[in-house]
Amino acid sequence: MPPPPSPALPPLHHFFHPAHAHKYAATVRLGLDHLVSTLGRVTGPATGRTPEDADRRVAAVDLDHPLGDAAAALEEMSRVWLDDTVWFHEPRYAAHLNCPVLVPALLAELFIAAVNPSLDTFDQSVGATFVERALVDWTAGRVGLGPRADGVFTSGGSQSNLQALQLARDRALTRDPGLDPARLRVLVSQDGHFSVAKSARLLGLPDAVLGVPVDADRRMDPAALARTLDQLRDLGLVPMAVVGTAGTTDFGAIDPLADLADLCARHDTWLHVDASYGGGLLASRRDRHRLDGVGRADSVTVDFHKTWFQPVSASAVLVRERDDLRHVTWHADYLNPRGTDRPDQVGKSLQTTRRFDALKLWLTLRIIGADTVGAYVDSVTDLAHDVADAVEGRPELELAAPPQLSTLVWRVRPRGSTPEDASALVPRVRQALYDRGGAMVAATKVDGAAWLKVTLLNPMATADDVLGILDDAVVLGTRMHRDRAEVA
Ligand SMILES: *Cc1c(COP(=O)(O)O)cnc(C)c1O
Repeated sequence: MPPPPSPALPPLHHFFHPAHAHKYAATVRLGLDHLVSTLGRVTGPATGRTPEDADRRVAAVDLDHPLGDAAAALEEMSRVWLDDTVWFHEPRYAAHLNCPVLVPALLAELFIAAVNPSLDTFDQSVGATFVERALVDWTAGRVGLGPRADGVFTSGGSQSNLQALQLARDRALTRDPGLDPARLRVLVSQDGHFSVAKSARLLGLPDAVLGVPVDADRRMDPAALARTLDQLRDLGLVPMAVVGTAGTTDFGAIDPLADLADLCARHDTWLHVDASYGGGLLASRRDRHRLDGVGRADSVTVDFHKTWFQPVSASAVLVRERDDLRHVTWHADYLNPRGTDRPDQVGKSLQTTRRFDALKLWLTLRIIGADTVGAYVDSVTDLAHDVADAVEGRPELELAAPPQLSTLVWRVRPRGSTPEDASALVPRVRQALYDRGGAMVAATKVDGAAWLKVTLLNPMATADDVLGILDDAVVLGTRMHRDRAEVA
């Protein structure tokens, strides 16, 4: 049998290329019009579509039959996703650490995607390598990590934390090659991020992480840390790292970083600061001091896609001593062979091919500047305090703690309800707010009990917007509690 005829080469105008620039521009304009007209119709943070319905819409598409037409595909895309997406610019979106995004960063995305440089080596990026390096140096300078600092952009706080803990582990094992890794321990506050424990597991240290108790403000208790470090020494265990959190995910608590740095110095232990959330304070003239001590860390995580209002992904891991990055270095003959002095970033990263996410921060700093970002950070902190003040003295709303950054942990306490009733209402109130499409809030557990949470990262939202969500929750929760009481 003769082989089947090879298919004819499709037209090449689908590629980004100077000869097809007009087609590229027309397609992007079509997309831009579609996006802007969609934006104009948005009336709330979500429409309340159910998972079953969202799944059904996607499953109905036959991926083996292309539409051959961008306009038709955009209409279909709207049906499967965009029409019901969650909008982070909406003032009643207040769930997780998702931020509305800055337009200078969106401008950068256009160039990042089309030019498509890869940040692993100089010969795939040229100036981009130095843009990223300049931003790493600039951020490390704001942190105060000193003249030998370095770092690299990552996909997010989770990857930054993983890399930092890998460096800490490998420093410990390099110093003492005979050390049994099973004796390594990582100390993090009991409110620290789950990516710390997950990283330890990925690093082959499933039992290494110990939770250190927090004080009344939910900051790591340095006295408890000191006791734990002494106990580990007495047991012959090795604290390979202390992880301080600058902005816990639920309470925004900032661990006493200077105290942690003192203890780490005394015990010769790596200090990693997870500033995924609180890193925005680096831009704040007013509140930068709240991170005092962070400059004494061995490594720091900063998530630009949280409190720097950048689109996902944009994060960095920074280190005080650039030589520590050698623990992730691998020499590949085709990419960064030993003995060449071409600048590369791949030797500092867990990734190989890597987006030029740094350009988003670059254009943000070059167009609006860090002070503007810092003022936005200040305004969401103020917003959380204003809402907390307004809630004070309202018996049907309960706050778990005063705000520290821009989260509030709260719940509805209908008249005559017990704490258990209030816990039971949490998932139902949250779901009811989403179902009606009117507001999105998060939920969490505090000491085993359920609470609602708002995370305020939108400088365009007002206290009235947020209080409106809380008022709706009170109406819903009160009705649910009354209906239940009647049934009982
Ligand atoms: C969000 C967050 C992380 C994880 O960051 P990603 O960018 O989502 O991977 C880690 N630590 C803290 C404290 C966070 O708030």
